[in-house]
Amino acid sequence: MNAPLATILIVEDEPKLAALLADYLAQSNFHTAHIANGMEVIPAVRAAMPDLILLDLMLPGRDGIDLCRELRSFSDVPIVMVTAKVEEIDRLLGLQLGADDYICKPFSPREVVARVQAILRRAGRQRTPAENGLGFDDDQHSASYQNQRLDLTPVEFRLLKTLFSSQGRVFSRDQLMNSLYEDYRVVTDRTVDSHIKNLRRKLDAVSPDRELIKSVYGVGYKFEA
Ligand code: CA
Repeated sequence: MNAPLATILIVEDEPKLAALLADYLAQSNFHTAHIANGMEVIPAVRAAMPDLILLDLMLPGRDGIDLCRELRSFSDVPIVMVTAKVEEIDRLLGLQLGADDYICKPFSPREVVARVQAILRRAGRQRTPAENGLGFDDDQHSASYQNQRLDLTPVEFRLLKTLFSSQGRVFSRDQLMNSLYEDYRVVTDRTVDSHIKNLRRKLDAVSPDRELIKSVYGVGYKFEA
C-alpha cells in the first residue's frame, strides 16, 4: 500500500508563482492546495490540516505574520515563510513567529522543494508518519485521517492509538479499558463499546468505505487496515 502523499498548502497571491510551485511540488510527489487570500487560510487549515504551509508574507486580506501567529496558537504544522526582501527575514526572526524556515523571492523552485523535504523529514521524527491514512500527534493529542483532522475526545484518541499501535492484535474490552483510563475507574463493557461506536462514526465521516476497527465476536476489537 502506498503512503498517502503529503499535502503542501501554498498561500500565495501571485498566480504564476503559485502555479510554478505547485508544478515542482507535484513532480516531487506532493499533493498541493492553493489559497490566494489571507482571509481563507485559517478556515481552510482548520477544515483539513496540511502537512506543511508555504506562507507568503504580503497577502490580500491578512498578512503572513498575523496568520503565522494564529496558526501557531492551535497547530505545530510546519510553516515556511516566503518574503520578498532578504532584509525582512531578520525582522521576522526577531518577531519569533515560530516559522520553521524562511525563503526569499526570487527563489529557485528546486530549492523550495528541497527545503520542504528537509522540514518534513525533521517533522517526521516528532510525529508518527501517516500510515493507512492515519497520523498521530502526541504533543497536540490530535489525530488525522486522510489528511483531515479528527475531532477526538482524549479517551477516543487513546483508544484509536492503542488499537493502531498493535495492528491485527485482538484486544478484549478489559484490556482496552485499562489502556483508556490512566487511573483505574469502574467502567463497564458498554463504555468501551460506546467509545468504539463514536470513534467509528468519526472515521466513517472521513472515509465511509473503510472499516478500520473490526469487532471480534465474543472477544473485543482489533485494528485492521
Ligand atoms: Ca504576495
